[in-house]
Amino acid sequence: MSETPGFPAGAAGPGPPAEGELTARARELDKADPLAAVRGRFVLDAPPDETSGGAAVYLDGNSLGALPRAVPDRLADVIAREWGELRIRSWSESGWWTAPERIGDKIAPLIGAGPGRVVVGDSTSVNIFKAVVGGVRMAGKGCTEILVDATTFPTDGYIARSAARMTGLAVRPVEPARIADEVTERTALALVNHVDYRTGRLNDLPGITHALHSAGALAVWDLCHSAGALPVGLDAHHVDLAVGCTYKYLNGGPGSPAYLYIRESLQDRFESPLPGWNSHADPFAMDPDHTPADGIARGRVGTPDILSLLALEAALEAWDGVSIEAVRTKSLALTDFFLECVQACVPPGRVRSLTPSAHERRGSQVSLACAPALGSSFGQGEIPVAGQVMDELIRRGVVGDFRPPDVLRFGFTPLYTSFADAERAARVLGEVLRALPEVSSGDGG
Ligand SMILES: *Cc1c(COP(=O)(O)O)cnc(C)c1O
Repeated sequence: MSETPGFPAGAAGPGPPAEGELTARARELDKADPLAAVRGRFVLDAPPDETSGGAAVYLDGNSLGALPRAVPDRLADVIAREWGELRIRSWSESGWWTAPERIGDKIAPLIGAGPGRVVVGDSTSVNIFKAVVGGVRMAGKGCTEILVDATTFPTDGYIARSAARMTGLAVRPVEPARIADEVTERTALALVNHVDYRTGRLNDLPGITHALHSAGALAVWDLCHSAGALPVGLDAHHVDLAVGCTYKYLNGGPGSPAYLYIRESLQDRFESPLPGWNSHADPFAMDPDHTPADGIARGRVGTPDILSLLALEAALEAWDGVSIEAVRTKSLALTDFFLECVQACVPPGRVRSLTPSAHERRGSQVSLACAPALGSSFGQGEIPVAGQVMDELIRRGVVGDFRPPDVLRFGFTPLYTSFADAERAARVLGEVLRALPEVSSGDGG
């Protein structure tokens, strides 16, 4: 099976495809879906045939997860009672002080980590800084460089460059598939995205981690697009450090705090570059000198963002009784079915899948490169046609997103995305592309 399928997609003949057949298949798949009932734990629009035409299919959970139903009441109680009535007593009586580790332990099973290895707080960007500088400080003395995923989400690269400058190391961008060949004994660590945010490609975490360790380097993984979408196995694969956000597949809400994982055997060697008072062994001793806390608490910085943390904790209740393996099975079925529907519904040559067809290389999103409109000139100030296509999709109730220059992204969140959602999205995409001006088919390969 090829890495990049690149179907020059589309139905062979003109006119709409066998629409009824796909709708019926979607209905069957939804009926057989063991996770179907979990959708009820989220606030989502009802399907369009049940209510108004304004209902949207939400395929942007890889950017901002939908609102879990448990969150509003829990947050109202935190505000009215814990803050409003108990006030400062809540730091102990309502468990505010211990929330970063307690919630870390709730995320841990989803990423294959034992208890005491994950702490929640700060943004992903800040945790990347802690992990990269902390990793360099644990690396061998002769190390001169950091490898950074050449296809990384930008913030990781920006932070890694600054961290390298501060620690006197060089940064070398390397494609994830090349890391095993490029790592040397001078490499302190590699910072790699588990799933590529643009294409949805799943990078080989066990293989790359093993190759790094064989060369004496540490493996630092960014799980933003994999946590909550597929099994990660941090402990099993001996990952050293990992970070991730909680507002994508973990549905923690806009700007919800991120997390830091530190392998158990490295925790007593981890020296944070941001040793705030919350990471002190005895924070209330008000000691002028910093003595790091034992265990994962040394990944903390300052006072935790309690409202966001507790919203996240309530959001994680949506995972009660759900196995990440079941999520992965449904995720692959959803993306397979969506690709099949796109092939059937979209006119030939208009889109090309950038997402690997091989299951072991696919995350939980489908990215479609959109052929430019005839006569349009990329990079010369015109709005790329893919951006126009996504605007029109959203107007018609199919919410994905657009990444320059030509990528349409559709995220599949198995906790609440249905097969009917996938079918409707592909059908509407076909309608939008048929309605747009004729395009060149030069990008169909
Ligand atoms: C979403 C995402 C981030 C976001 O970082 P923030 O600090 O939360 O803004 C970082 N890295 C990757 C790979 C992401 O996908």
